[in-house]
Amino acid sequence: MSLEEARSSQKNPSQDGIYIIHKHRSRTLHYDLRLEVEGALASWAVPKGAPLNPADRRLAIRVEDHPLDYAEFEGVIPEGEYGAGPVMVWDSGTYAALKDEPPADSLARGRLDVFIRGQKLRGAFALIRTSRGDARNWLLIKMKDDHTRRGGHITEEAPRSVKTGLTLDEIESQAAD
Ligand code: MN
Repeated sequence: MSLEEARSSQKNPSQDGIYIIHKHRSRTLHYDLRLEVEGALASWAVPKGAPLNPADRRLAIRVEDHPLDYAEFEGVIPEGEYGAGPVMVWDSGTYAALKDEPPADSLARGRLDVFIRGQKLRGAFALIRTSRGDARNWLLIKMKDDHTRRGGHITEEAPRSVKTGLTLDEIESQAAD
């Protein structure tokens, strides 16, 4: 599906929301996917980052919503605070829900399909709540479209901040100066 098709398939194409992925090293390295929903950033911690191959199903752990003004945060969360460690704006842009219903309703039902327009990621993705085990467990899946890829790892090919061009280590060492 092209961007134009994704847009025209929406009844309300002007209602795009903020899309952000923070690269965050706290106890472990992970990628926090954040989507603007009803005035906040709905968030998932994705240990392996977003997939480009529809065959890859990436665990995405739903975590607490963040305020909208956290979207552009880059720096180091101090020792002793929750999530202590360096945070990078790994990707940013906008997203559009692909179904004609409020994203909050889609989340409540356990599946949100979106078209992401980021600087690194592009295309249709599905967030699907798993029925087994921990209720916070979702899967992030690349839907088939022109932006699908079979090989490679976008996290390794594009490791730097889209905001500053820094690596996570550089963000950490700058804060220590
Ligand atoms: Mn995090």
